[in-house]
Amino acid sequence: MPSYSELVASQRMFFQSGATRSYEFRMQQLDKLYVLVADNELLILKALHEDLNKSELEGFFADVGYIKYEISHARKHLRSWMKPQRVKTPLTHFGSSSKIFRDPYGVNLIIAPWNYPFLLTLTPLIGAIAGGNTAIIKPSELAAHSSELLHKLLANAFPPEYIACVEGAADETTALLQERFDHIFYTGSSSIGKIIMSAASQHLTPVTLELGGKNPAIVDESANIPLAARRIAWGKLLNAGQTCIAPDYIYVHRSIEQRFRESLRDEMIQLHSSQPLNNPDYTSIINDRHLNRLQGLLDGPTVYYGGQIDRQKRMLAPTILTDVSWEHAVMQDEIFGPITPILPYDSLGDVISQIKKQEKPLALYLFTENKQVKQQVIREVPFGTGGINDTLFQFMNPHLPFGGVGSSGSGSYHGVHSFQCFTHPKSVLSQTTKFDLPLRYGKSKSALQII
Ligand code: NAD
Repeated sequence: MPSYSELVASQRMFFQSGATRSYEFRMQQLDKLYVLVADNELLILKALHEDLNKSELEGFFADVGYIKYEISHARKHLRSWMKPQRVKTPLTHFGSSSKIFRDPYGVNLIIAPWNYPFLLTLTPLIGAIAGGNTAIIKPSELAAHSSELLHKLLANAFPPEYIACVEGAADETTALLQERFDHIFYTGSSSIGKIIMSAASQHLTPVTLELGGKNPAIVDESANIPLAARRIAWGKLLNAGQTCIAPDYIYVHRSIEQRFRESLRDEMIQLHSSQPLNNPDYTSIINDRHLNRLQGLLDGPTVYYGGQIDRQKRMLAPTILTDVSWEHAVMQDEIFGPITPILPYDSLGDVISQIKKQEKPLALYLFTENKQVKQQVIREVPFGTGGINDTLFQFMNPHLPFGGVGSSGSGSYHGVHSFQCFTHPKSVLSQTTKFDLPLRYGKSKSALQII
């Protein structure tokens, strides 16, 4: 295994050879990536099961299926994305034309978390390939089986000077970050995001940060309660709540709070049975540290439903908390587990100001049949990405940019936004040599000089 600096140098040399730039090369590599995922679907699902007890259905839906869809989307549109974009030129620039060329950054570092270990490594990689770059991928050490499989599959499919996978934890990532990259794409917690940004600043490397936060869901009095409960329960319990865009806590209008709470409980039972800890398809918590952390969050509020723990299986039952205040531990940080605090509210204005007092969330969900409420929330609350009367599905639309804002991230990807994320908009003005305007030099003898 070469040292990190040798690896980066070999990628830089490969990039500078121009090998990654042609449309044909990019398409071939996207094809290879598609085959890598399609041919190894069973191995991928097995690794997800070993790391997280993820069911085949969840693994396919949230990891394999979307990656394949993104690759197909990129293949379909790559030619048009790569075309230089002609833009308007003001009359003051008479004789010239203006274009934007999407220039690959070069050598990229993609650092990923453990919760969707294939999705969050390979979806950015699609953007890196489509953009004409090289990439080093650093999966999370906490999803060890997935990390090992990714390493093996990528090493078999691609030469290391083009795409390489480096396994390891904080020490290895810290060492990697000493190197000079042309772009760093990081997905993970906001606290480590600061470390990444600070390391990148040493080389003035551009960064894309896909971070986390507390995502509110609001259910107003006009909402379709059973549907809101079903979609929130599903969005919360996918991957046992270990999803960056899962609804974190729910504000429910006081007039419907009891009905909603009962519906939410019923939908959770519907999804994972009344014995969720015996459900073989219920995802486990990634490790004991996180299970202990989640257990600590149950202290304070009333456990309305759930709360049971199976330490051996590292599982926490779907849990609903009531009598919750902002002082409770569960409201301090991102929950990242199957715990749902419900907060009743009387005034939407108060809800909006409370949410605005917090860091800008990665996602916000609103359940309402009221158009004014929808417009007010979208207009007044800053958030990265959101859903009206739905949860999570915004992630799976490649036409929507996916990313946070402020402490939940900066930059976005998916579809054309991934291509843009991994390329620099190089702007070029081409001036005519057929004539010259002396006016521009501050000379006014003759307005036009034919050359
Ligand atoms: P994490 O920040 O602990 O780890 C992410 C990556 O950073 C891992 O590869 C890890 O090895 C590396 N890392 C850890 N410590 C480091 C250090 N000191 N220096 C350098 N690198 C280090 O995050 P996690 O626990 O794997 O993932 C959970 C978090 O990720 C949650 O906050 C979640 O919201 C967020 N997340 C965000 C998105 C998104 O798309 N915005 C997606 C998934 C997860």
